[in-house]
Amino acid sequence: PVVIESVVSIKEPAKFKAIKHIVLIASGKGGVGKSTTAVNLAGALKNEGAKVGILDADIYGPSIPMLLGLVGAEPQTKDNKLLQPFDANSIKAQSIGFLVPSDDATVWRGPMASGALNQLLNETDWGELDYLIVDMPPGTGDIQLTMSQKVPASGTVIVTTPQDLALADAQKGIAMFNKVNVPVLGLIENMSHYICTHCGEANHVFGKDGAEKLAHKHGVPVLSHIPLAIDIREYSEQGKLIASDNSAAISKTYSAAARLMA
Ligand code: ADP
Repeated sequence: PVVIESVVSIKEPAKFKAIKHIVLIASGKGGVGKSTTAVNLAGALKNEGAKVGILDADIYGPSIPMLLGLVGAEPQTKDNKLLQPFDANSIKAQSIGFLVPSDDATVWRGPMASGALNQLLNETDWGELDYLIVDMPPGTGDIQLTMSQKVPASGTVIVTTPQDLALADAQKGIAMFNKVNVPVLGLIENMSHYICTHCGEANHVFGKDGAEKLAHKHGVPVLSHIPLAIDIREYSEQGKLIASDNSAAISKTYSAAARLMA
């Protein structure tokens, strides 16, 4: 294990004064749709007229470049020496994937990844933002704990599927954020159900009511139930945000979640 204490920290809090809210999007397990949800919440907030940035801090598998159609982009600095975030349909985006080569998996856990995380946090020229959405690495290890302690977050949204295994890990996430006094704004149940394209029936592929029970136990709301939908995957793979496409029914689901979160 890599000692990452003190590595991920806000070095100049003054710089973050121009950011009204930092919201951490977290999950206990990988693969539950955390990144997909993070970018679409960012898109929904932008649609509401907010100035939004997204920081991909998922060192284990940064997917924001793909989700925003920015694969292969290289961050540039300007005269002020700060890294310039990319503009993805008016969302300012920065990703650890731009700084650490993805072809050498071993470096993700090393000092290079932690140094890069710090650089992203402290040296990106975010400018004024209403929301900075942070796509956290999944899990509750050292890196996640240190980040949630050191980043001045307004709160966290925990993404889970209704499956018992995911819920058990989501519970660990809630416990971690409680420990470091970061308010849990709510849970998002992703891949909640699948609507049969033939008969329209909702099938609860990964189980039912799991997020409600967990939310009830911890006194936090369920912000949304997002279906398992082919559209969501297809838009993601094309680097487009379904939440920004008003003609897609699911965009309303993300908007409603974003409003509850904000
Ligand atoms: P995580 O960030 O939790 O690892 P991702 O956001 O990368 O998860 O999603 C994992 C996979 O599941 C991706 O292929 C993504 O397109 C797909 N996915 C996520 N949410 C949904 C959904 N609601 N419906 C269909 N596919 C989804």
